[in-house]
Amino acid sequence: MPSFMNNRTKQKLPLRLAEAAANTVIQELSCVQGVIDCAPSGSVRRRDPLSDHVLVLACIRQADGQIMPILQSKNYVLSSVDDFVRNPVRSMISPMQAMTRIIELEDRKIPVAVLFITPPLWAMANVYLSGDALHNEILQGKIASPALPTSEQESEHEVYAKAGFPFIIPLLRDGVSMTKDPQTLVDRTDIQGDLHMHTTYSDGHDTLEAMVKACIGRGYRYMTISDHSQGLTVAHGLSYDRLLEQHEELLRIREMYPQITIFHGSEVDITASAKLDFPDTILRQLDFVVASIHTAMRQTKAELTARALYAIQSPYVHILAHPTGRMLGRRESFPLDFDQVFYAAREHDVAIECNANPERLDLDPLLLRRAVEAGCLFSIDSDAHSIENLTRIEQYGIDMAKKGWVPKERVINTWPLKRLLAWMTRK
Ligand SMILES: [Zn+2]
Ligand SMILES: [Zn+2]
Repeated sequence: MPSFMNNRTKQKLPLRLAEAAANTVIQELSCVQGVIDCAPSGSVRRRDPLSDHVLVLACIRQADGQIMPILQSKNYVLSSVDDFVRNPVRSMISPMQAMTRIIELEDRKIPVAVLFITPPLWAMANVYLSGDALHNEILQGKIASPALPTSEQESEHEVYAKAGFPFIIPLLRDGVSMTKDPQTLVDRTDIQGDLHMHTTYSDGHDTLEAMVKACIGRGYRYMTISDHSQGLTVAHGLSYDRLLEQHEELLRIREMYPQITIFHGSEVDITASAKLDFPDTILRQLDFVVASIHTAMRQTKAELTARALYAIQSPYVHILAHPTGRMLGRRESFPLDFDQVFYAAREHDVAIECNANPERLDLDPLLLRRAVEAGCLFSIDSDAHSIENLTRIEQYGIDMAKKGWVPKERVINTWPLKRLLAWMTRK
């Protein structure tokens, strides 16, 4: 561990911050004469929800060693290549130099490591340094003479081809994902609507009408307005009266915008005593119910699991939202018996959420894989609290679902309206 990493910086970094730090450095380097190319690498390029460190590759010519002194004058510090590239990859790719630049973002000091690579090794470095240990082991095992890059024009595609692999998208560059066919996984173009979002009725920043117009602008066929339920007072949860008031407005908006189907929903809190925050008499009047835990997260695993199971077993619930309650870099996931939760979700035909809020990314891709294996359905939602937040679907949600091996046919918001409606009224 390099000495500049204090306790604060040792914490894992959320993807949002790791990418922002990497991009800042890439922007700085691309203004430096002699830097031919720059790219994020490591876990940032794989888009892991949390990273241990941030890695950037910079392509320079062998003779351009004088770039280092220039960068030293710009707060880049020489560091040891061995801290960032270890054997066996180190034996194949020997960077000219490593430097570290501390980027300050949101009160955090984020060390970004830059590895300087010469053109003949550029493609190989991009492949190997963005792969995890197992990915690299598998690739290396397949290459006859790995230390012999052929031409400066070699592409990442050719590096994989030499090892007998099709091109592997960076998202799947962990050893166990290498055989996944990205064609079967969900893609942005498959998304027909967004089933979890907030308005100014609860804690959102934009009005119901603004959210509807923005969803139409995104080409959606349907959407769910799901403001918080009454008990979540910190988020201005809606009482039954306010919900009725919202329904009146929604009826008017539906007439104004017939090009999109607007479901009236609620993000119903699962209470500390394992109940839903609205009685069944209200739940059955809603088109769509998103259930989630926001409180009493320090309960035992058994208690928290019982709460999730209660919601899943309700005939009115469609989605179990942000199932583990984590806030990246700030709050750990609460414990759940995932086998029980996923099995119950499949049995009761409740979709598991892939929440695209970059503070959450919940479920984590590794847990999404387990839910896929259990046979669950999914919903990729923005959980938008403003019209800008709606883009989280393509900024984060789709990539997390791909990393979680979620097949497109299992994602309910890729379905045509008719199929989704039939599923919504299934019970
Ligand atoms: Zn929520
Ligand atoms: Zn929400």
